[in-house]
Amino acid sequence: MNHLAKKISVDTTINNFGDQRIGQQFSLIVPKLMPDEFHLGYFGRFGLYNGFPNYLSAKRKINHIFRIQLNKERQYPLPLQLADILNIDPERFVADHTLVPIFRSPDHNNIPSHEVKVLKAMGYILAKPNVCFCENCISEDLSYIGYSYWRRSHQIHGVDFCSKHGTQLMMAVDENSHYQSPNKILKLGRYLISKITPTEYDHPVIKKIYRTINGLY
Ligand SMILES: [Zn+2]
Repeated sequence: MNHLAKKISVDTTINNFGDQRIGQQFSLIVPKLMPDEFHLGYFGRFGLYNGFPNYLSAKRKINHIFRIQLNKERQYPLPLQLADILNIDPERFVADHTLVPIFRSPDHNNIPSHEVKVLKAMGYILAKPNVCFCENCISEDLSYIGYSYWRRSHQIHGVDFCSKHGTQLMMAVDENSHYQSPNKILKLGRYLISKITPTEYDHPVIKKIYRTINGLY
């Protein structure tokens, strides 16, 4: 898909996505959030569509908007920024698109996962040494939607196989790889292949974590 075609398809998505107040106010393109999309990867898609060349420049730009123009506190966490930009419920966004629910112990004194202080501590960290992707998911994404995206379900510690394809996950090697598309990391060869055997995916604890985070029970 060429650049113009991509921009048109994104703009069409915006028009179908309801209220985009912050996007409209600051002339930002707000791509559609995909199912199971990892929030750090979404921030990369958002940033690149808006012309911010890397993670740090995108963070600076968005932090400036939230701090100076929207009067949010200096360290207003990225997951809340993204929920605001998407104009969706922060509790739902954190539950469905971040790793925060699996980092937290069951004993957290009823403090919600979308609290600012929780997200300051847990809203940026990865569960594995770097972000992971499935080659087959990338192929399907490119065929069906024209771009690839990072899935949260591939980022869970102990899950080294794609639950949909049963294929080994690949792990990116460079810092902030989540800012680029998984397809770009694949094409550049900037990844490692997981060494863990498929039987480990069947470990009951790992399956329990996976099913819990995906709301299966
Ligand atoms: Zn897959």
